[in-house]
Amino acid sequence: MSEPVIVFDLDDTLYAERDFAISGFRACESWLEREHGVGEVAEEMTRLLDEGHMRQLFVKVLKDRLPHSADQHLEAFIDVYRYHEPAIGLYPDSVWALEHFGSKGPLGLITDGQHEVQSSKVRALDIGHRFEHIVYTGALGGRAFSKPHPLSYEQMEEKLGGAGDGRRFVYVGDNPAKDFVTPNARGWISVQIVRPYRIHARAEASQGGHPQHMIETLTELPAILAGL
Ligand SMILES: [Mg+2]
Repeated sequence: MSEPVIVFDLDDTLYAERDFAISGFRACESWLEREHGVGEVAEEMTRLLDEGHMRQLFVKVLKDRLPHSADQHLEAFIDVYRYHEPAIGLYPDSVWALEHFGSKGPLGLITDGQHEVQSSKVRALDIGHRFEHIVYTGALGGRAFSKPHPLSYEQMEEKLGGAGDGRRFVYVGDNPAKDFVTPNARGWISVQIVRPYRIHARAEASQGGHPQHMIETLTELPAILAGL
């Protein structure tokens, strides 16, 4: 039987999303200093992130530092975060996994979020060439196509499934609220990687979204695949 096709998630699977956030907070800090003469916000933003306030932290920090700021300032502030050149790196076991599994067969990547932001991460990590096919769900037509929408998974099956040779698919992700619902429903193997400091540590599994396997490092993956 042929090797299973492994499809990865990006954020908090192959690299630490918190590192992207901190790198973005530093860009926000520089921008505030440059444009408005106030600074020293990166540390506070990191604290708010760690307390689980990702969504509100931009509003809160800007209102604190620039009490008279308008909506356009907030938009500009968030854009600095989104579109900065990220300083991020792969987890060591991700470097190993892309090399190891990439030498055995084609790999895929499915990632949610804005297309420009996610592709800037792929560029910064220099991993685009590692994948036979990448689906940026944000490029499929908006948030409606985010996981668990089946379109990205269907595209992977079409692109990497081979000519009906019954290849198994594996999805490796971190977020049980959205990553595994569709893989489970389509007969894929679902594997949750549990990273330290992950952003979605509080996420609960949605119905049908429990992973079939849980691992702490990608070096555990061969043992799971050997048991298929
Ligand atoms: Mg993720």
